[in-house]
Order: sequence, then C-alpha cells, then structure tokens
Amino acid sequence: MIDDIEVLCHACGGEGRRPEAKVSTLGGVPHTATVSLPCSWCEGVGRREGIDPPA
Ligand SMILES: [Zn+2]
Repeated sequence: MIDDIEVLCHACGGEGRRPEAKVSTLGGVPHTATVSLPCSWCEGVGRREGIDPPA
C-alpha cells in the first residue's frame, strides 16, 4: 500500500510560494506589484504528504 508519499502541492505547483498581485497607490497613481507569498497550503515546502483523493 502507498502510505508514505509526498506529492507536489497543487496550490503552488511545488514552488512553495504563490504570486499575488498587490495594488498600491503612489502619488495618486495606482501601481500593481506582484509579490510572492509563502504558500499557505504547504507552508512554503512545495510538497504535501499524502495523496489528495480524487473528487
Ligand atoms: Zn504550496
């Protein structure tokens, strides 16, 4: 049986970080900056233990 396997995190694709667009206004001009945040699914590891059961 498979009971000790790590799979790539689906949320971040194994990167461990996810890009997130942030909009800020500087001097009345909106800017969009992309920041990368640690993935909340895998806590930045990029892998998760176990297999997600197919829906
Ligand atoms: Zn992740």
